[in-house]
Amino acid sequence: MTAQQRFETHDIFNQSPPYEDVDLFTSDRALRDAVQANGAAAELAPLSEFGRRWGSAAMFDAARLANEHTPKLKTFDAHVFRRDTIEFHPAYHGFMAESMKAGLHASTWNADGSRAGAPAEVARAARYFMVAQVENGHMCPITMTRACVGALAAEPAVLQKMIGKITARTYDRSFRPWWEKDAITLGMGMTEKQGGTDVRANTTTAIAAGEGYAVTGHKWFMSAPMCDAFLVLAQAPGGLTCFLMPRFRPDGSVNTLRFQRLKDKLGNRSNASSEVEFIEAFAWRVGAEGAGVRTIIEMVQLTRVDCIISSAGMMRMALAQALHHARHRTVFQKLLADQPMMRTLLADMALEAEGATALTMRLCRSLDLAASNAKEAARARLLTPAVKYWICKTAPGFIYEAMECLGGNGYVEETPLARLYREAPVNAIWEGSGNVMCLDVLRALSRDGEAARGVLTDLVRQCGDLPGAEDAASFIEKALASPEGEAKARAAVERLALLAAAAALTESAPNVAEVFARTRLSVARGGTFGTSDLSVPEVTNVSERALPAT
Ligand SMILES: Cc1cc2nc3c(=O)[nH]c(=O)nc-3n(C[C@H](O)[C@H](O)[C@H](O)COP(=O)(O)OP(=O)(O)OC[C@H]3O[C@@H](n4cnc5c(N)ncnc54)[C@H](O)[C@@H]3O)c2cc1C
Repeated sequence: MTAQQRFETHDIFNQSPPYEDVDLFTSDRALRDAVQANGAAAELAPLSEFGRRWGSAAMFDAARLANEHTPKLKTFDAHVFRRDTIEFHPAYHGFMAESMKAGLHASTWNADGSRAGAPAEVARAARYFMVAQVENGHMCPITMTRACVGALAAEPAVLQKMIGKITARTYDRSFRPWWEKDAITLGMGMTEKQGGTDVRANTTTAIAAGEGYAVTGHKWFMSAPMCDAFLVLAQAPGGLTCFLMPRFRPDGSVNTLRFQRLKDKLGNRSNASSEVEFIEAFAWRVGAEGAGVRTIIEMVQLTRVDCIISSAGMMRMALAQALHHARHRTVFQKLLADQPMMRTLLADMALEAEGATALTMRLCRSLDLAASNAKEAARARLLTPAVKYWICKTAPGFIYEAMECLGGNGYVEETPLARLYREAPVNAIWEGSGNVMCLDVLRALSRDGEAARGVLTDLVRQCGDLPGAEDAASFIEKALASPEGEAKARAAVERLALLAAAAALTESAPNVAEVFARTRLSVARGGTFGTSDLSVPEVTNVSERALPAT
């Protein structure tokens, strides 16, 4: 008995060891299989190296520090000049440097701003999935920086000026004009007090001035305010327009973005989210006047994909924590992992995480292929909102259930579960909340019904004779085509995501696809995890896949 294990009144035993110093890639069979099935088999070795780095005890501890020591707004400098800068804990900067070195902010783009070829999306998604298991807050500017290129493509001259600094693999935290820096990050401001979903209600105005526009108004949520520039929406004479607003004006003076305060958030605490006023702030127009929504939506589609990856990654970490604990904790003379009810619960959760992982990577494969394959482009268009709806909504309840598997220890801050639980809801809320995602599926159907129906047909074909697949497809078609389509959209969109998950599993984990379809498509499981009808061999198979024995 070591001194550490002995307290004055008792010996300590039956506590699970910390889940750290693990290879987040190699230990995750579902992720490995999905990466291979979706064209990124050549990345296995570097992904394993990445998984070991991010699964280290040092990374978990840095994540704790970055979230305990939250960012602070520094409105003025020591000489009372207006600065509007944000101060972060060094751990946050460490994460930014790690993620940018790995190219998470840019690896899907070529140096000229064109899309990198397959499997760039899948390879990046696998890395993002692992990072999300450790620290999510810093991924906000990483996500927005990678996504902004989609919108900046509408203004090639601006894109060409900046793309070299956007794709650089270094992190430059200094508060200097963007043109003096080697590497920059970008954010986005759409939401105003009177409307976040309904951005056409924006009251911020823009009038032509000099080489750009003068923008006056506010944003009610603008995350990552220390970025070097922001894509913002404002009303120009020709209608709602997209602009790029740098932190410094072209003459080198600090631009007039006045941060009012930082949000006091439930989770996502390592990341700063601001309320901001623009006082004739300088900005370049991106895209035509009046084309603001059409322009910025190119960015938003990509940020939605990152919400999906992040939530799927958090589900994975929650599952791994629960499995690990259950394999070390004894209750009533038996390991928790051997108690029949806990076994079914963990297997049911592992099935859900398998589906989420396979579906996420398959969606990224569609993004990889979209430029040259119309069917994959239609698949990405229809499924991105459906998958965001299902995975981002599933994650909070899933993480809560994992937390309960750890009992009281899951509820306290020493394990990452409390932080994951606080983090999870934001992925459903931002970048298009749940109902808005369902409306977007309906929009995809109304814009190009033939392409959307083609996606559905392909999913059913891929599912083959999986139980419930055909019934699910006809339910989806009927519900979305009915006159009350909007009122019924949630049920249909959830089914669509489940059908797509079953189809994705046929490619990456065929021996899991049948049980997933039977318990999710054919017979809906109960409202909580652990209610699926699983046989003992199914429980064993799914659980063994989920985490190797230690
Ligand atoms: C931590 C955090 C950071 C953020 N960072 C940014 C940022 O960097 N930039 C930025 O622009 N925004 C940001 N946001 C704002 C976020 O994108 C918005 O909160 C979100 O888009 C919802 O807008 P809203 O808050 O105005 O809610 P509303 O638009 O009022 O929506 C409220 C609810 O109504 C539902 N709803 C809306 N329309 C319909 C409809 N037609 N039918 C049925 N239901 C509907 C929505 O799904 C939602 O559930 C951030 C938010 C958070 C929480």
